[in-house]
Amino acid sequence: MADALSSFWQSLLDLTSQVVIPDWAALVGLLPVFFVLLVLGPLVTLLAFLWLVYIVRRPRPTIEFDEGPWPIQPDLEGRLEPPLAEPYCPDHGLAYRAGMVRCPLDGSILLFRCPKCRLARPAGVPRCGNCGLVAVPGRALRPLAPVSPPPGGAALA
Ligand SMILES: [Zn+2]
Ligand SMILES: [Zn+2]
Repeated sequence: MADALSSFWQSLLDLTSQVVIPDWAALVGLLPVFFVLLVLGPLVTLLAFLWLVYIVRRPRPTIEFDEGPWPIQPDLEGRLEPPLAEPYCPDHGLAYRAGMVRCPLDGSILLFRCPKCRLARPAGVPRCGNCGLVAVPGRALRPLAPVSPPPGGAALA
C-alpha cells in the first residue's frame, strides 16, 4: 500500500516536473525572440512615441513676419530719424507697416517721408507735393529671425 502510494507520488511528481519545470535549452534558444519582444519592441515603441512628441511639439515651420510697429531709431545725436518711405507716427516714435494711414494708438494721421526729397507728407497721399514722386509707403516685411542689422543701415538714408 505504501509502495503504491509512493509510486503514485513519484509518477505525479514526474508528470508535474515535465509541466512546470521549463525546458531551459529550448528557452535559451528562444532568447533572441524574447529579446526582440521584451527589449527591442518596447524600445522601438518608445522611440516612435518620443519622435511623435517631437513632431507635435517642435516649432511651427510656418514663417512669421515682423509686422511692426518698429521703434524709430534715433540718429547719432539722439534725435529720432524717421524712416524714409515708411508710415510713421512722430508722437509715438513708431514706424508702421505698409497700408497704415492712422496711428492705431490715438488715430492721428501717420506721416511718410518721400524717399526722393525726404519731405514728410500724410501717409495716405501717394504723390509727393514737392518733387512729384509717386510712392506708396511700406517696407518689405522681413521674417521674424535674429538678424543682425546691416552695417550703417540707417546712415545710408
Ligand atoms: Zn501715434
Ligand atoms: Zn518728394
